Amino acid sequence: MKNSGRSFILKVQKDHRIFFKQHKTDGVKKRIQYLKKLKKLLDKKEASIMDALFLDLRKPAFESYTSEVLMVQKELSLLIKNIKDWAAPKRVSGSLLSFPSQDFIISEPYGTVLLISPWNYPFQLAMIPFIGAIAAGNTAVLKPSESAPHTAQIIEKILMEVFPENWVKVIQGDVTVGEALLKYQWDYIFYTGSTHVGRIVAKAAAEFLTPTTLELGGKSPCVVDGTTPIQKTARRIIWGKFLNCGQTCIAPDYILVKKDHKDDLIKALIQEIEKAFGPDAKKSDDYGRLIHNKHFDKLKKDLHNENILFGGNMDRESLYFEPTLVNEPAMDSRLIEDEIFGPILPVLSYQTEEDLDLVLSKLKNPLAFYIFSSSKKFINNLIKKYSFGGGVVNDTVIHFSNTNLPFGGIGTSGNGSYHGKYSFDIFTHAKPLVKRPFWFDLPQRYAPYPKSLKFLKFLLKKL
Ligand code: NAD
Repeated sequence: MKNSGRSFILKVQKDHRIFFKQHKTDGVKKRIQYLKKLKKLLDKKEASIMDALFLDLRKPAFESYTSEVLMVQKELSLLIKNIKDWAAPKRVSGSLLSFPSQDFIISEPYGTVLLISPWNYPFQLAMIPFIGAIAAGNTAVLKPSESAPHTAQIIEKILMEVFPENWVKVIQGDVTVGEALLKYQWDYIFYTGSTHVGRIVAKAAAEFLTPTTLELGGKSPCVVDGTTPIQKTARRIIWGKFLNCGQTCIAPDYILVKKDHKDDLIKALIQEIEKAFGPDAKKSDDYGRLIHNKHFDKLKKDLHNENILFGGNMDRESLYFEPTLVNEPAMDSRLIEDEIFGPILPVLSYQTEEDLDLVLSKLKNPLAFYIFSSSKKFINNLIKKYSFGGGVVNDTVIHFSNTNLPFGGIGTSGNGSYHGKYSFDIFTHAKPLVKRPFWFDLPQRYAPYPKSLKFLKFLLKKL
């Protein structure tokens, strides 16, 4: 049966709905038991996962471990430890009109969740939301990215070894499979990928009024006012930018540096690139590759006619693209208008706050926002003035690794956030429930209502 075919998808949905309705995902003990099983298998398959990431993106082992495998294992441990507490009904205080009552919030799973994931961190961006969906008591259908086929394969193998097919199903395939899945009604959709496809997902979900979380892209600025140690600033920017060959949704997309410090920063950035990847990044084991030819061609086009300060070498056959710095691209250039999502880092400069505002207001709602400054006033002004998914002061990217922080975008960079408790919450309907005895009723509540509101106001003031 074709996995984009109507009968195939409807059969998967039917099986999942039956499994869910039979309360087979209800038991917290059972969820914990399966997540523990998953954790054990992941530990066992760690090397194969890292091999797959190498084959798909030539990810250095250190990056694969820290930014993919470890993050998933940490998420699993956190959820396993806390599900029981998070899933338990929460007692809250009652209201005057319902007195006396017992008021609760019940954590109810949505049902059958569809997860669609991208290729850049193909393991963790599929697995972390998946773990949240299962921990919350849903069934899950996961479509990993076709552009990272080795990782998609190992994800399917692992999940199918742990979960029964009517609880978890991995459906592999390209855009046509994604489009086919969106034709049918799901109880929740979690999508990670481009803003363009995010709109398609949102439209499809709206057809059924299905709730969604959209984790999208955007242009994340890195503002440098020159008041921080320049070498360390450069090192932290280079690390966040060229991790995974620049294919990180929260990588600094461009730098905005105070004019007087631009030359020093560029010098330091070049030194840090060479320190990290040697004189020829092509020979470095610590530098990844682009995902595919299409992305290579896009980035090559982005660079056309630009003023290259450093780098610019590339090789289509091996998908190598050198860490590249570009000087002041025009505001209507491809590098500024589109998300770069690769190892090209434009350096723009500003003199006044108005200059800064011109750029930051044009490229609004970024997924991440980075500020390098030692001035509290400058930092606070920027944080207050601009809206962004998440931010870091004096570093880049690291907010992603803290499971106590919600991760997500705003506006065109997405909506809804996850990680840790936030993952559990997004896949859970908070169902309020009020239980009342019969021994007391506020008589004024019933018609015919009192003609004067005096007594009610007196009571409200007392309580
Ligand atoms: P993409 O949107 O092309 O694809 C992502 C997934 O969507 C894939 O599984 C793909 O098969 C599927 N898909 C593509 N077109 C579809 C359609 N019409 N209908 C249904 N499914 C479809 O994104 P990508 O190229 O894989 O990822 C790059 C983008 O993702 C960048 O913009 C990046 O910033 C963003 N991203 C965001 C986050 C985040 O957490 N916010 C994380 C990683 C990547």
